[in-house]
Amino acid sequence: MSKITIPTDPRISKFIADNVFVEGKHIDFNLYEPMKIVYDLNPPELLVLAGRQIGKSVYLASKSSTKSVVIPHNRILYVSPLESQAKTWSKTKLGPIISDSPRIGHFFKRSGNNVFYKENSLGSYIELTYASLASAEPARVRGKSADDLYIDETQDIVPDALPVIKETITSSLRPTVTYAGTAKSSENLTGILWKNANRIERVYKCTGCNKLNIIEYSNIGKSGLICSKCGKKLEQENSRFMVVSTNSKNRLVGVRLPQVIMPIHQTENKWVDVLNKYNQYSPEKFEQEVLGIPTGAGSRFLTLDDLKELCLPGKRMLKMIDNDRLNLYRNIFMGIDWSGEGTEDKSRTAYIIMGQKKTTGDVEVIGGGIIPPGNPNQTLDMVKNVAYAFRVKFFGADAGMGAYQNAILQREFGVQRFLQVRYVASQGNPFKYDPRVNILNIDKTAAIDTIMGIFKQDVYYPLLKKVAVPVMTNKEHMFKILWPQFEDSYPFFKDILAEFSQKGSSNRKIWTHSPDTPDDALHAVTFGFFAYVYFMNGQVAFY
Ligand SMILES: [Zn+2]
Repeated sequence: MSKITIPTDPRISKFIADNVFVEGKHIDFNLYEPMKIVYDLNPPELLVLAGRQIGKSVYLASKSSTKSVVIPHNRILYVSPLESQAKTWSKTKLGPIISDSPRIGHFFKRSGNNVFYKENSLGSYIELTYASLASAEPARVRGKSADDLYIDETQDIVPDALPVIKETITSSLRPTVTYAGTAKSSENLTGILWKNANRIERVYKCTGCNKLNIIEYSNIGKSGLICSKCGKKLEQENSRFMVVSTNSKNRLVGVRLPQVIMPIHQTENKWVDVLNKYNQYSPEKFEQEVLGIPTGAGSRFLTLDDLKELCLPGKRMLKMIDNDRLNLYRNIFMGIDWSGEGTEDKSRTAYIIMGQKKTTGDVEVIGGGIIPPGNPNQTLDMVKNVAYAFRVKFFGADAGMGAYQNAILQREFGVQRFLQVRYVASQGNPFKYDPRVNILNIDKTAAIDTIMGIFKQDVYYPLLKKVAVPVMTNKEHMFKILWPQFEDSYPFFKDILAEFSQKGSSNRKIWTHSPDTPDDALHAVTFGFFAYVYFMNGQVAFY
Protein backbone atom coordinates (compact mmCIF):
# COMPACT_ATOMS: atom_id res chain seq x y z
CA MET A 1 0.00 0.00 0.00
CA SER A 2 1.30 3.42 -0.82
CA LYS A 3 0.20 6.99 -0.66
CA ILE A 4 -1.38 8.19 -3.87
CA THR A 5 1.26 8.96 -6.46
CA ILE A 6 -1.25 9.32 -9.26
CA PRO A 7 -1.43 13.08 -9.90
CA THR A 8 -4.50 14.96 -8.80
CA ASP A 9 -5.64 18.47 -9.63
CA PRO A 10 -7.42 19.97 -6.60
CA ARG A 11 -8.51 22.96 -8.69
CA ILE A 12 -11.45 20.99 -10.06
CA SER A 13 -13.04 20.24 -6.68
CA LYS A 14 -12.18 23.80 -5.56
CA PHE A 15 -13.95 25.27 -8.60
CA ILE A 16 -16.91 23.01 -7.97
CA ALA A 17 -17.07 23.83 -4.26
CA ASP A 18 -17.05 27.55 -5.08
CA ASN A 19 -19.15 27.68 -8.22
CA VAL A 20 -21.44 24.71 -8.68
CA PHE A 21 -24.95 24.88 -7.30
CA VAL A 22 -27.14 21.80 -6.86
CA GLU A 23 -30.75 22.57 -6.00
CA GLY A 24 -29.72 26.11 -5.11
CA LYS A 25 -26.96 25.06 -2.71
CA HIS A 26 -23.22 24.50 -2.89
CA ILE A 27 -22.04 20.89 -2.79
CA ASP A 28 -21.20 20.29 0.86
CA PHE A 29 -17.80 18.63 0.80
CA ASN A 30 -18.00 18.21 4.58
CA LEU A 31 -20.73 15.62 4.00
CA TYR A 32 -19.24 14.22 0.79
CA GLU A 33 -15.51 14.77 1.42
CA PRO A 34 -14.40 11.42 -0.14
CA MET A 35 -15.96 12.51 -3.45
CA LYS A 36 -13.21 15.11 -3.86
CA ILE A 37 -10.73 12.54 -5.11
CA VAL A 38 -12.83 11.52 -8.11
CA TYR A 39 -13.22 15.16 -9.10
CA ASP A 40 -9.49 15.82 -8.89
CA LEU A 41 -8.05 12.63 -10.37
CA ASN A 42 -7.51 12.93 -14.09
CA PRO A 43 -5.96 9.69 -15.38
CA PRO A 44 -6.59 8.55 -18.98
CA GLU A 45 -9.19 6.13 -17.63
CA LEU A 46 -11.04 6.40 -14.32
CA LEU A 47 -13.53 3.98 -12.81
CA VAL A 48 -15.78 5.33 -10.07
CA LEU A 49 -17.19 2.22 -8.44
CA ALA A 50 -19.91 3.50 -6.17
CA GLY A 51 -22.23 2.28 -3.48
CA ARG A 52 -25.80 3.55 -3.80
CA GLN A 53 -26.69 7.14 -2.87
CA ILE A 54 -23.27 8.66 -2.89
CA GLY A 55 -24.06 11.35 -5.47
CA LYS A 56 -22.77 9.66 -8.62
CA SER A 57 -25.15 11.50 -10.98
CA VAL A 58 -24.33 14.88 -9.45
CA TYR A 59 -20.66 14.02 -9.75
CA LEU A 60 -20.92 13.31 -13.47
CA ALA A 61 -22.95 16.46 -14.12
CA SER A 62 -20.70 18.77 -12.04
CA LYS A 63 -17.47 17.41 -13.44
CA SER A 64 -18.51 17.38 -17.09
CA SER A 65 -20.06 20.84 -17.01
CA THR A 66 -17.04 22.25 -15.13
CA LYS A 67 -14.62 20.71 -17.62
CA SER A 68 -16.63 22.20 -20.48
CA VAL A 69 -15.85 25.62 -19.05
CA VAL A 70 -12.35 25.13 -17.66
CA ILE A 71 -11.14 23.55 -20.93
CA PRO A 72 -12.31 25.42 -24.06
CA HIS A 73 -13.18 23.37 -27.16
CA ASN A 74 -13.75 20.31 -25.00
CA ARG A 75 -15.89 17.70 -26.73
CA ILE A 76 -17.74 15.78 -24.04
CA LEU A 77 -19.79 12.66 -24.69
CA TYR A 78 -22.05 11.07 -22.09
CA VAL A 79 -23.24 7.50 -22.73
CA SER A 80 -25.78 5.58 -20.66
CA PRO A 81 -27.33 2.19 -21.44
CA LEU A 82 -30.88 3.54 -21.92
CA GLU A 83 -32.36 6.59 -23.61
CA SER A 84 -34.51 7.24 -20.54
CA GLN A 85 -31.40 7.36 -18.31
CA ALA A 86 -29.70 9.94 -20.51
CA LYS A 87 -32.87 12.04 -20.59
CA THR A 88 -33.39 11.88 -16.82
CA TRP A 89 -29.78 12.77 -16.10
CA SER A 90 -29.97 15.71 -18.50
CA LYS A 91 -33.23 17.05 -17.10
CA THR A 92 -32.66 16.49 -13.37
CA LYS A 93 -28.88 16.93 -13.00
CA LEU A 94 -26.97 18.42 -15.92
CA GLY A 95 -29.56 21.00 -17.03
CA PRO A 96 -30.29 22.35 -13.53
CA ILE A 97 -26.59 22.49 -12.58
CA ILE A 98 -25.81 24.52 -15.71
CA SER A 99 -28.69 26.93 -15.20
CA ASP A 100 -28.24 27.30 -11.41
CA SER A 101 -24.46 27.80 -11.52
CA PRO A 102 -23.77 31.32 -12.90
CA ARG A 103 -20.06 30.78 -13.62
CA ILE A 104 -21.02 27.82 -15.84
CA GLY A 105 -24.44 28.83 -17.15
CA HIS A 106 -23.08 32.18 -18.27
CA PHE A 107 -21.28 30.45 -21.16
CA PHE A 108 -24.10 28.21 -22.28
CA LYS A 109 -26.04 29.38 -25.29
CA ARG A 110 -29.76 29.59 -25.04
CA SER A 111 -30.50 28.69 -28.64
CA GLY A 112 -29.92 25.33 -30.28
CA ASN A 113 -29.44 23.47 -27.03
CA ASN A 114 -31.71 20.60 -26.05
CA VAL A 115 -31.87 17.58 -23.79
CA PHE A 116 -29.22 15.65 -25.75
CA TYR A 117 -26.92 18.49 -26.76
CA LYS A 118 -25.54 21.49 -24.87
CA GLU A 119 -23.02 23.83 -26.42
CA ASN A 120 -21.25 26.79 -24.83
CA SER A 121 -19.62 29.95 -26.14
CA LEU A 122 -16.13 28.60 -25.34
CA GLY A 123 -16.48 26.06 -28.15
CA SER A 124 -17.17 23.14 -25.83
CA TYR A 125 -20.18 20.93 -25.93
CA ILE A 126 -21.77 18.10 -23.96
CA GLU A 127 -23.53 15.50 -26.08
CA LEU A 128 -25.66 12.72 -24.63
CA THR A 129 -26.40 9.38 -26.20
CA TYR A 130 -27.16 5.80 -25.23
CA ALA A 131 -25.73 2.41 -26.07
CA SER A 132 -28.81 0.15 -25.82
CA LEU A 133 -28.97 -2.58 -23.22
CA ALA A 134 -28.82 -5.61 -25.41
CA SER A 135 -26.72 -4.78 -28.36
CA ALA A 136 -23.03 -5.34 -28.85
CA GLU A 137 -23.42 -2.83 -31.69
CA PRO A 138 -24.22 0.56 -30.13
CA ALA A 139 -25.30 2.15 -33.42
CA ARG A 140 -26.05 5.56 -31.91
CA VAL A 141 -22.54 5.87 -30.49
CA ARG A 142 -20.72 4.88 -33.66
CA GLY A 143 -19.26 7.81 -35.59
CA LYS A 144 -19.33 10.28 -32.70
CA SER A 145 -16.07 11.73 -31.43
CA ALA A 146 -15.08 13.13 -28.07
CA ASP A 147 -12.24 14.22 -25.79
CA ASP A 148 -13.92 13.37 -22.51
CA LEU A 149 -16.07 10.27 -22.49
CA TYR A 150 -18.39 9.62 -19.53
CA ILE A 151 -20.03 6.21 -19.30
CA ASP A 152 -22.85 6.05 -16.76
CA GLU A 153 -24.45 2.92 -15.29
CA THR A 154 -21.41 1.04 -16.59
CA GLN A 155 -22.55 -2.16 -14.88
CA ASP A 156 -25.33 -2.47 -17.46
CA ILE A 157 -23.23 -1.84 -20.56
CA VAL A 158 -22.69 -5.00 -22.61
CA PRO A 159 -18.91 -5.65 -22.47
CA ASP A 160 -18.89 -6.38 -26.22
CA ALA A 161 -20.08 -2.82 -26.91
CA LEU A 162 -17.17 -1.18 -25.07
CA PRO A 163 -14.62 -1.20 -27.93
CA VAL A 164 -17.09 0.68 -30.16
CA ILE A 165 -17.90 3.19 -27.42
CA LYS A 166 -14.18 3.81 -26.78
CA GLU A 167 -13.64 4.27 -30.50
CA THR A 168 -15.15 7.77 -30.01
CA ILE A 169 -12.02 9.13 -28.29
CA THR A 170 -9.36 7.77 -30.64
CA SER A 171 -9.12 11.06 -32.54
CA SER A 172 -8.56 13.11 -29.37
CA LEU A 173 -5.14 14.46 -28.39
CA ARG A 174 -5.95 14.13 -24.67
CA PRO A 175 -8.65 11.53 -24.37
CA THR A 176 -10.14 10.57 -21.01
CA VAL A 177 -12.75 8.00 -20.07
CA THR A 178 -14.71 8.08 -16.85
CA TYR A 179 -16.70 4.97 -16.01
CA ALA A 180 -19.27 5.42 -13.27
CA GLY A 181 -21.36 2.58 -11.97
CA THR A 182 -22.45 0.41 -9.13
CA ALA A 183 -21.25 -3.07 -8.31
CA LYS A 184 -23.01 -6.20 -9.49
CA SER A 185 -21.52 -9.62 -10.04
CA SER A 186 -17.80 -9.82 -10.68
CA GLU A 187 -18.67 -10.78 -14.27
CA ASN A 188 -20.33 -7.43 -14.99
CA LEU A 189 -18.46 -4.69 -16.77
CA THR A 190 -17.80 -2.78 -13.52
CA GLY A 191 -16.55 -6.01 -11.92
CA ILE A 192 -14.25 -6.78 -14.83
CA LEU A 193 -12.85 -3.25 -14.96
CA TRP A 194 -12.28 -3.19 -11.19
CA LYS A 195 -10.46 -6.53 -11.27
CA ASN A 196 -7.86 -5.14 -13.68
CA ALA A 197 -7.63 -1.57 -12.38
CA ASN A 198 -4.96 0.25 -10.41
CA ARG A 199 -7.08 0.37 -7.28
CA ILE A 200 -7.51 3.21 -4.84
CA GLU A 201 -9.35 2.55 -1.60
CA ARG A 202 -10.24 4.56 1.47
CA VAL A 203 -8.06 3.09 4.19
CA TYR A 204 -8.83 3.54 7.91
CA LYS A 205 -6.04 3.15 10.45
CA CYS A 206 -7.19 1.63 13.71
CA THR A 207 -5.96 3.57 16.76
CA GLY A 208 -6.30 0.41 18.87
CA CYS A 209 -4.24 -2.14 16.93
CA ASN A 210 -2.80 -0.13 14.01
CA LYS A 211 -4.50 -2.33 11.41
CA LEU A 212 -5.12 -0.63 8.09
CA ASN A 213 -8.74 -1.38 7.25
CA ILE A 214 -10.10 -1.42 3.70
CA ILE A 215 -13.84 -1.24 4.22
CA GLU A 216 -15.67 -4.52 3.85
CA TYR A 217 -18.47 -6.56 5.44
CA SER A 218 -16.61 -7.10 8.72
CA ASN A 219 -16.18 -3.35 9.28
CA ILE A 220 -19.88 -2.68 9.90
CA GLY A 221 -20.42 -2.01 13.62
CA LYS A 222 -23.51 -1.19 15.70
CA SER A 223 -22.98 2.55 15.57
CA GLY A 224 -20.40 3.04 12.88
CA LEU A 225 -17.38 1.58 11.17
CA ILE A 226 -15.23 -0.71 13.34
CA CYS A 227 -11.81 -2.33 13.03
CA SER A 228 -12.18 -5.84 11.61
CA LYS A 229 -9.37 -7.08 13.87
CA CYS A 230 -9.99 -5.55 17.29
CA GLY A 231 -13.49 -4.08 16.95
CA LYS A 232 -12.51 -0.54 17.93
CA LYS A 233 -14.49 2.26 16.30
CA LEU A 234 -12.80 3.69 13.20
CA GLU A 235 -12.57 7.46 12.92
CA GLN A 236 -12.93 9.39 9.68
CA GLU A 237 -9.97 11.62 10.54
CA ASN A 238 -7.69 8.56 10.59
CA SER A 239 -8.60 7.60 7.05
CA ARG A 240 -7.23 8.52 3.66
CA PHE A 241 -7.17 7.24 0.10
CA MET A 242 -4.31 4.92 -0.78
CA VAL A 243 -3.24 2.96 -3.83
CA VAL A 244 -3.77 -0.62 -2.69
CA SER A 245 -2.90 -2.51 -5.86
CA THR A 246 -1.22 -1.59 -9.11
CA ASN A 247 -1.41 -3.08 -12.56
CA SER A 248 1.29 -1.64 -14.79
CA LYS A 249 -0.35 -3.12 -17.88
CA ASN A 250 -3.48 -1.04 -17.38
CA ARG A 251 -3.97 2.73 -17.49
CA LEU A 252 -7.26 2.43 -15.64
CA VAL A 253 -7.45 3.88 -12.14
CA GLY A 254 -10.34 2.58 -10.06
CA VAL A 255 -11.71 4.27 -6.95
CA ARG A 256 -14.19 2.42 -4.77
CA LEU A 257 -16.63 4.63 -2.89
CA PRO A 258 -18.64 2.60 -0.36
CA GLN A 259 -21.71 4.42 0.92
CA VAL A 260 -20.42 4.11 4.50
CA ILE A 261 -17.26 6.19 3.96
CA MET A 262 -19.38 9.29 3.26
CA PRO A 263 -19.83 11.42 6.41
CA ILE A 264 -23.45 11.98 5.39
CA HIS A 265 -24.15 8.25 5.87
CA GLN A 266 -22.28 8.07 9.19
CA THR A 267 -24.77 10.12 11.22
CA GLU A 268 -26.84 8.29 13.85
CA ASN A 269 -30.03 8.36 11.76
CA LYS A 270 -28.38 7.25 8.56
CA TRP A 271 -26.48 4.47 10.29
CA VAL A 272 -29.83 2.92 11.28
CA ASP A 273 -30.55 2.57 7.55
CA VAL A 274 -27.17 0.93 7.00
CA LEU A 275 -27.83 -1.54 9.83
CA ASN A 276 -31.30 -2.36 8.49
CA LYS A 277 -29.78 -3.28 5.17
CA TYR A 278 -27.03 -5.22 6.94
CA ASN A 279 -29.70 -7.30 8.68
CA GLN A 280 -32.08 -7.68 5.74
CA TYR A 281 -29.83 -8.11 2.73
CA SER A 282 -27.79 -11.17 1.86
CA PRO A 283 -24.06 -10.52 2.38
CA GLU A 284 -23.66 -10.50 -1.41
CA LYS A 285 -26.35 -7.86 -1.92
CA PHE A 286 -24.99 -5.72 0.95
CA GLU A 287 -21.50 -5.90 -0.51
CA GLN A 288 -22.72 -4.89 -3.94
CA GLU A 289 -25.20 -2.14 -3.07
CA VAL A 290 -23.81 -0.57 0.09
CA LEU A 291 -20.09 -1.31 -0.10
CA GLY A 292 -19.69 -1.24 -3.88
CA ILE A 293 -17.83 -4.55 -4.01
CA PRO A 294 -18.41 -6.64 -7.16
CA THR A 295 -19.02 -10.15 -5.91
CA GLY A 296 -20.23 -13.54 -7.02
CA ALA A 297 -20.92 -14.90 -10.47
CA GLY A 298 -23.80 -13.94 -12.69
CA SER A 299 -26.74 -16.31 -12.47
CA ARG A 300 -26.72 -19.21 -14.89
CA PHE A 301 -29.96 -20.57 -16.29
CA LEU A 302 -28.54 -23.77 -17.79
CA THR A 303 -26.20 -26.36 -16.34
CA LEU A 304 -23.81 -28.66 -18.16
CA ASP A 305 -26.13 -31.54 -17.19
CA ASP A 306 -29.04 -29.84 -18.98
CA LEU A 307 -26.97 -29.76 -22.15
CA LYS A 308 -25.67 -33.32 -21.68
CA GLU A 309 -29.25 -34.52 -21.84
CA LEU A 310 -29.53 -33.13 -25.36
CA CYS A 311 -26.60 -35.17 -26.66
CA LEU A 312 -27.11 -38.15 -28.97
CA PRO A 313 -24.61 -40.84 -27.91
CA GLY A 314 -22.58 -42.19 -30.80
CA LYS A 315 -23.58 -39.41 -33.16
CA ARG A 316 -20.58 -37.42 -34.30
CA MET A 317 -20.23 -33.78 -35.16
CA LEU A 318 -19.70 -34.17 -38.93
CA LYS A 319 -16.25 -33.31 -40.21
CA MET A 320 -16.67 -34.70 -43.72
CA ILE A 321 -19.49 -35.20 -46.16
CA ASP A 322 -21.85 -38.01 -45.19
CA ASN A 323 -24.78 -38.09 -47.59
CA ASP A 324 -26.65 -40.82 -45.70
CA ARG A 325 -26.67 -38.59 -42.66
CA LEU A 326 -27.56 -35.42 -44.53
CA ASN A 327 -30.51 -37.21 -46.16
CA LEU A 328 -32.14 -37.61 -42.75
CA TYR A 329 -32.99 -33.92 -42.70
CA ARG A 330 -35.76 -32.02 -44.39
CA ASN A 331 -33.72 -28.83 -44.47
CA ILE A 332 -30.20 -27.90 -43.48
CA PHE A 333 -29.46 -24.44 -42.18
CA MET A 334 -26.54 -22.54 -40.72
CA GLY A 335 -26.07 -19.81 -38.14
CA ILE A 336 -23.00 -17.59 -38.17
CA ASP A 337 -21.66 -15.20 -35.52
CA TRP A 338 -18.80 -13.23 -37.02
CA SER A 339 -15.78 -12.25 -34.96
CA GLY A 340 -15.78 -8.73 -33.50
CA GLU A 341 -13.33 -6.14 -34.69
CA GLY A 342 -12.11 -5.19 -31.23
CA THR A 343 -8.66 -6.31 -30.21
CA GLU A 344 -9.57 -6.27 -26.53
CA ASP A 345 -12.17 -9.01 -26.70
CA LYS A 346 -11.80 -12.69 -27.31
CA SER A 347 -14.55 -12.91 -29.90
CA ARG A 348 -14.16 -15.51 -32.65
CA THR A 349 -16.26 -16.55 -35.61
CA ALA A 350 -18.61 -19.40 -34.78
CA TYR A 351 -20.82 -21.31 -37.19
CA ILE A 352 -23.33 -24.04 -36.41
CA ILE A 353 -24.98 -26.27 -39.01
CA MET A 354 -28.37 -27.64 -38.06
CA GLY A 355 -30.87 -29.88 -39.79
CA GLN A 356 -34.54 -30.50 -39.19
CA LYS A 357 -35.20 -34.18 -38.80
CA LYS A 358 -37.74 -35.55 -41.32
CA THR A 359 -39.14 -38.04 -38.80
CA THR A 360 -39.63 -35.96 -35.64
CA GLY A 361 -39.40 -32.31 -36.66
CA ASP A 362 -36.66 -31.83 -34.09
CA VAL A 363 -33.59 -29.85 -34.98
CA GLU A 364 -30.21 -31.56 -34.74
CA VAL A 365 -26.84 -29.91 -34.71
CA ILE A 366 -24.85 -31.61 -37.47
CA GLY A 367 -21.63 -29.68 -37.59
CA GLY A 368 -19.96 -26.53 -36.46
CA GLY A 369 -16.74 -24.71 -35.95
CA ILE A 370 -15.11 -21.97 -33.93
CA ILE A 371 -12.52 -19.97 -35.87
CA PRO A 372 -10.08 -17.73 -33.99
CA PRO A 373 -9.72 -14.10 -35.15
CA GLY A 374 -7.53 -13.86 -38.23
CA ASN A 375 -7.75 -13.11 -41.91
CA PRO A 376 -11.44 -12.32 -42.62
CA ASN A 377 -11.15 -13.57 -46.23
CA GLN A 378 -9.83 -16.95 -45.10
CA THR A 379 -12.60 -17.22 -42.54
CA LEU A 380 -15.14 -16.35 -45.20
CA ASP A 381 -13.81 -18.99 -47.60
CA MET A 382 -13.86 -21.59 -44.87
CA VAL A 383 -17.49 -20.86 -44.01
CA LYS A 384 -18.49 -20.85 -47.68
CA ASN A 385 -16.82 -24.20 -48.40
CA VAL A 386 -18.44 -25.81 -45.38
CA ALA A 387 -21.84 -24.48 -46.51
CA TYR A 388 -21.47 -26.11 -49.92
CA ALA A 389 -20.20 -29.37 -48.46
CA PHE A 390 -23.16 -29.65 -46.08
CA ARG A 391 -25.72 -28.56 -48.71
CA VAL A 392 -26.84 -25.69 -46.47
CA LYS A 393 -30.13 -24.28 -47.71
CA PHE A 394 -30.76 -21.35 -45.35
CA PHE A 395 -28.44 -18.97 -43.53
CA GLY A 396 -28.84 -16.63 -40.57
CA ALA A 397 -25.80 -14.43 -39.93
CA ASP A 398 -24.89 -11.74 -37.43
CA ALA A 399 -25.70 -8.36 -38.98
CA GLY A 400 -23.66 -6.42 -36.43
CA MET A 401 -20.12 -7.40 -37.32
CA GLY A 402 -19.94 -9.11 -40.70
CA ALA A 403 -21.31 -6.55 -43.15
CA TYR A 404 -18.65 -7.35 -45.74
CA GLN A 405 -18.82 -11.13 -45.31
CA ASN A 406 -22.62 -11.03 -45.37
CA ALA A 407 -22.65 -9.06 -48.62
CA ILE A 408 -20.46 -11.69 -50.29
CA LEU A 409 -22.48 -14.64 -49.02
CA GLN A 410 -25.76 -12.97 -49.87
CA ARG A 411 -24.61 -12.57 -53.46
CA GLU A 412 -23.41 -16.17 -53.52
CA PHE A 413 -26.58 -17.77 -52.15
CA GLY A 414 -29.28 -15.14 -52.81
CA VAL A 415 -31.58 -13.18 -50.49
CA GLN A 416 -34.15 -16.00 -50.64
CA ARG A 417 -31.69 -18.10 -48.64
CA PHE A 418 -29.50 -15.66 -46.76
CA LEU A 419 -30.76 -13.47 -43.93
CA GLN A 420 -28.90 -11.10 -41.66
CA VAL A 421 -30.04 -11.18 -38.04
CA ARG A 422 -29.53 -8.36 -35.56
CA TYR A 423 -30.10 -8.16 -31.82
CA VAL A 424 -32.01 -5.13 -30.64
CA ALA A 425 -33.29 -4.04 -27.24
CA SER A 426 -37.04 -4.15 -26.67
CA GLN A 427 -39.16 -3.20 -29.65
CA GLY A 428 -42.90 -3.56 -30.18
CA ASN A 429 -42.68 -6.91 -31.94
CA PRO A 430 -39.82 -9.11 -30.72
CA PHE A 431 -39.11 -10.27 -34.30
CA LYS A 432 -39.33 -7.69 -37.05
CA TYR A 433 -38.07 -8.04 -40.62
CA ASP A 434 -36.65 -4.96 -42.35
CA PRO A 435 -36.84 -5.61 -46.12
CA ARG A 436 -34.79 -2.52 -47.03
CA VAL A 437 -31.63 -4.07 -45.62
CA ASN A 438 -32.67 -7.74 -45.47
CA ILE A 439 -32.24 -7.81 -41.70
CA LEU A 440 -34.34 -9.66 -39.18
CA ASN A 441 -34.31 -7.60 -35.97
CA ILE A 442 -34.80 -9.79 -32.94
CA ASP A 443 -35.29 -8.77 -29.33
CA LYS A 444 -32.19 -10.19 -27.65
CA THR A 445 -33.90 -11.09 -24.39
CA ALA A 446 -36.86 -12.82 -26.06
CA ALA A 447 -34.66 -14.62 -28.57
CA ILE A 448 -32.15 -16.00 -26.06
CA ASP A 449 -34.96 -16.78 -23.58
CA THR A 450 -36.47 -18.93 -26.31
CA ILE A 451 -33.27 -20.76 -27.24
CA MET A 452 -32.33 -21.30 -23.58
CA GLY A 453 -35.90 -22.49 -22.95
CA ILE A 454 -35.61 -25.04 -25.74
CA PHE A 455 -32.30 -26.28 -24.29
CA LYS A 456 -33.79 -26.50 -20.81
CA GLN A 457 -36.67 -28.63 -22.17
CA ASP A 458 -39.26 -28.72 -19.40
CA VAL A 459 -39.25 -25.46 -17.47
CA TYR A 460 -39.57 -23.06 -20.35
CA TYR A 461 -41.79 -25.15 -22.57
CA PRO A 462 -44.71 -22.70 -22.22
CA LEU A 463 -42.50 -19.92 -23.57
CA LEU A 464 -41.49 -22.01 -26.55
CA LYS A 465 -45.13 -22.72 -27.34
CA LYS A 466 -45.67 -18.99 -27.72
CA VAL A 467 -43.20 -18.78 -30.57
CA ALA A 468 -44.82 -19.77 -33.85
CA VAL A 469 -42.36 -22.47 -34.81
CA PRO A 470 -43.95 -23.79 -38.00
CA VAL A 471 -41.45 -26.59 -38.08
CA MET A 472 -43.11 -28.41 -35.20
CA THR A 473 -44.79 -31.36 -36.83
CA ASN A 474 -46.73 -32.64 -33.88
CA LYS A 475 -48.24 -30.53 -31.11
CA GLU A 476 -47.87 -33.37 -28.60
CA HIS A 477 -44.16 -33.73 -29.23
CA MET A 478 -41.91 -31.40 -27.32
CA PHE A 479 -39.71 -29.70 -29.86
CA LYS A 480 -35.98 -30.12 -29.20
CA ILE A 481 -32.63 -28.94 -30.44
CA LEU A 482 -30.39 -32.00 -30.10
CA TRP A 483 -26.61 -32.20 -30.16
CA PRO A 484 -24.00 -34.77 -31.22
CA GLN A 485 -22.19 -36.82 -28.59
CA PHE A 486 -20.94 -34.89 -25.59
CA GLU A 487 -17.21 -35.04 -26.46
CA ASP A 488 -17.89 -33.35 -29.81
CA SER A 489 -20.37 -30.80 -28.50
CA TYR A 490 -18.49 -29.69 -25.41
CA PRO A 491 -16.50 -26.83 -27.03
CA PHE A 492 -19.80 -25.28 -28.11
CA PHE A 493 -21.46 -25.93 -24.75
CA LYS A 494 -18.76 -23.84 -23.07
CA ASP A 495 -19.94 -20.84 -25.10
CA ILE A 496 -23.58 -21.51 -24.20
CA LEU A 497 -22.79 -21.81 -20.50
CA ALA A 498 -20.86 -18.51 -20.55
CA GLU A 499 -24.15 -16.67 -20.96
CA PHE A 500 -25.85 -15.40 -17.82
CA SER A 501 -28.80 -13.17 -17.17
CA GLN A 502 -29.15 -10.19 -14.90
CA LYS A 503 -31.65 -7.49 -14.15
CA GLY A 504 -30.58 -4.40 -16.04
CA SER A 505 -31.72 -0.84 -15.63
CA SER A 506 -35.52 -0.53 -15.44
CA ASN A 507 -35.50 -4.07 -14.10
CA ARG A 508 -35.28 -5.49 -17.60
CA LYS A 509 -33.70 -8.89 -17.94
CA ILE A 510 -30.62 -8.98 -20.12
CA TRP A 511 -28.40 -11.82 -21.30
CA THR A 512 -24.69 -11.17 -21.29
CA HIS A 513 -21.28 -12.77 -20.77
CA SER A 514 -17.87 -11.85 -19.46
CA PRO A 515 -15.26 -10.81 -22.07
CA ASP A 516 -13.04 -13.53 -20.61
CA THR A 517 -15.50 -16.23 -21.65
CA PRO A 518 -16.82 -15.98 -25.20
CA ASP A 519 -20.39 -16.92 -26.14
CA ASP A 520 -20.21 -16.87 -29.94
CA ALA A 521 -21.55 -20.39 -30.57
CA LEU A 522 -24.75 -19.57 -28.67
CA HIS A 523 -25.42 -16.64 -30.98
CA ALA A 524 -24.66 -18.75 -34.04
CA VAL A 525 -27.43 -21.14 -32.92
CA THR A 526 -29.82 -18.25 -32.24
CA PHE A 527 -29.21 -16.47 -35.57
CA GLY A 528 -29.51 -19.72 -37.53
CA PHE A 529 -32.63 -20.89 -35.74
CA PHE A 530 -34.62 -17.68 -36.12
CA ALA A 531 -33.55 -17.22 -39.74
CA TYR A 532 -34.81 -20.76 -40.43
CA VAL A 533 -38.11 -20.11 -38.69
CA TYR A 534 -38.43 -16.92 -40.71
CA PHE A 535 -37.73 -18.64 -44.04
CA MET A 536 -40.18 -21.45 -43.32
CA ASN A 537 -42.93 -19.19 -42.13
CA GLY A 538 -42.49 -15.88 -43.90
CA GLN A 539 -42.24 -14.36 -40.45
CA VAL A 540 -41.39 -15.00 -36.83
CA ALA A 541 -44.21 -14.05 -34.54
CA PHE A 542 -45.63 -14.67 -31.12
CA TYR A 543 -49.17 -15.96 -31.14
ZN1 LIG B 1 -7.98 -2.53 15.51
